[in-house]
Amino acid sequence: MKTQYLTTSDEDLKIAAEIIKSGGLVAFPTETVYGLGGNALSAFASKAIYEAKGRPSDNPLIVHISCTEEVDDIAMRFPDNARKLAEALWPGPMTLVLPKFDVVPDATTGGLDTVAIRCPLNETARKLIKYAGVPIAAPSANTSGRPSPTKWEHVKHDLDGKIDAIIMGEPCIGGIESTVIDMTEELPMILRPGLITPEIVTKILGLPCDYDPAIKEGPSDSEGKLVPRAPGMKYKHYAPKAQMNLYSGSFENVKKAINEEAEKLKQEGANVVTIIYEDAETAARNLFADLRNADDGGADIILASALPSGESLNYSVMNRMLKSAGYNVIEV
Ligand code: AMP
Ligand code: MG
Repeated sequence: MKTQYLTTSDEDLKIAAEIIKSGGLVAFPTETVYGLGGNALSAFASKAIYEAKGRPSDNPLIVHISCTEEVDDIAMRFPDNARKLAEALWPGPMTLVLPKFDVVPDATTGGLDTVAIRCPLNETARKLIKYAGVPIAAPSANTSGRPSPTKWEHVKHDLDGKIDAIIMGEPCIGGIESTVIDMTEELPMILRPGLITPEIVTKILGLPCDYDPAIKEGPSDSEGKLVPRAPGMKYKHYAPKAQMNLYSGSFENVKKAINEEAEKLKQEGANVVTIIYEDAETAARNLFADLRNADDGGADIILASALPSGESLNYSVMNRMLKSAGYNVIEV
C-alpha cells in the first residue's frame, strides 16, 4: 500500500476524514504522542489497527472524541465525577474508562465491557474527528513494543506502506501517553500514569486517587504478580534496540557515573549514547525521540539518568523509562 502524506490544512484533513469513514487508517498528531486512527465503531478498522502495529488483540484501544458531549454516544454511564474531570481537563491528556454501549465493538475494547475515552487538546486531532463524524480509535502510531512516536517522521519510520495516510503535524508537546483513569467504581483509579497526576484528580474531585497497585510492582511477567487493569500495562514497551542502563542517585553522582562509564565503554570501541534529564517535563517531551535517535545512530548502549522519586510527574516518566530500560537500574 502507498501511504499518503497529508498536511494539517482543512482540505487535507477532509481527505483524511474520508479515509477514516471508508474504513482506512490515518496517523495524526495529538498533544501526547502520534495516534494511529481508525473508525472506533468499525470492528474491521480496529482489526486493521492491531495488524498494522503488530499489537496484541487483548490490548484495548483508546477512543478519541471531538467534544465532551460525544461521550454519551459511546458510554452507557457518565458518572458525575467523570463528568467533573472531563469539564476540568478536556480537551487534554486524560483518558476516562467508562462502561461501554454495544455500538463500540469488542474488537475496539479488546473484549472488555468498558471503553477508554479521550478528547485530545491538539486541534488537528479534534478537527479530524469532527470531519470524520465518528469517534476515532487510536493507539500510539508505532510498531508495538517500540518507543511511541512524537514526530510524524517516527510514524513514517515504523508504518510507511502499512497505513493509508500520515498527517505531517507538529512534534508532540507532552511526549508521554495520556493518564488512563478508571471511573467505573466509586473512587477514581489511575491505570496508566501520565501528565495528569493523582494530585490533580484529587484537587478536582476532593476524593483520594490511587494508582492501580499492579503498576507499582515493576516487571509484571514473573509469577505471583498482580495483573494490571489496563491490559496494555503488562506488555514490554518503549524499548530501544540498544541495551539501556538507568542510573539512580543524586544528580551529581549520576552525571559523574554516566560520564565515567561512557568514557570507559567508548575506549573499548562501543557506540555509547548518554541521556541526562534535569526535570520531568523535559524528560517526557524528549524521551521517546532520544531513544529513537540512539537507535538510528546505531547505539550499542544507552546510559540514562533516572528521575528522583517523590514527584508524581517524575513517577509517570519513570514508568516509561524503567520499561525502556527493562528495569535495568544501577544505584550510584
Ligand atoms: P495506547 O493505545 O498505546 O495509548 O495504550 C492504551 C492504554 O489504555 C493501554 O494500556 C490499554 O490497556 C488501556 N486501555 C484502553 N482501554 C481500556 C479499558 N477499557 N480498560 C482499561 N484499560 C484500557
Ligand atoms: Mg502505545
